[in-house]
Amino acid sequence: MRSLFISDLHLSSHSPAIVDGFLKFLQNQATDADELYILGDFFDAWIGDDDDSPLAADIKQALRKYASNHTVYFLHGNRDFLLGEKFAQQAGINLLPETCVINLHGRHTLIMHGDTLCTRDTEYLKFRTMVRNPAWQQQVLALPLPQRRQMAADLRQKTQSMIAMKAEDIMDVTPEEVEKIMAAYGVDLLIHGHTHRPARHEVSANGAMAERWVLGDWNQTGWYLVVENGELDLIEFDLAA
Ligand code: MN
Repeated sequence: MRSLFISDLHLSSHSPAIVDGFLKFLQNQATDADELYILGDFFDAWIGDDDDSPLAADIKQALRKYASNHTVYFLHGNRDFLLGEKFAQQAGINLLPETCVINLHGRHTLIMHGDTLCTRDTEYLKFRTMVRNPAWQQQVLALPLPQRRQMAADLRQKTQSMIAMKAEDIMDVTPEEVEKIMAAYGVDLLIHGHTHRPARHEVSANGAMAERWVLGDWNQTGWYLVVENGELDLIEFDLAA
């Protein structure tokens, strides 16, 4: 059994090299995997499953092809939270709840995007409460596509300036929140993305030693976590290769 985890690709028509790198990844690194977990911020923005852009069509098609002989799971990030069942069905992927315990080769493992671990980012958490509200989502999805595209572009700019103004430590996870949630779910392994700080951390949970693995964002290089034969390995690779 070989399982791969990725997150934070931020696929967008503004970054064709990353889109290309992902299409190659499916055919190369991911081809001999049994399952692929996408832990959010797969798209830099998602304006609704009715998006008729070439990017949406290309990714849907590539996922559908890959999913015909692999299992693909997806959970939402803070950028692509509007991705819905319709896209999932068309792409042949399985949507997971935002916080989820999976049986990873016999090991109970907590997976999530990771934004909710950054509890010091109160401004973002307020924003999150608004955009995760089904009523707000319905209202937005009812707007014409061009208007939603404009909203996504505005938000992108706003997020970038918000990030620039924030202190380094606010953008990382709150250690106490990590311990709390791992204890609450009774796991000794947590895998998440969001912070763009790929690493393995040893933490304590339930009074015992536990591990937190953080996935990397895709830029010049891509990142994936591979789990096979009871071992976890975080791998960085050249997207152009
Ligand atoms: Mn994120």
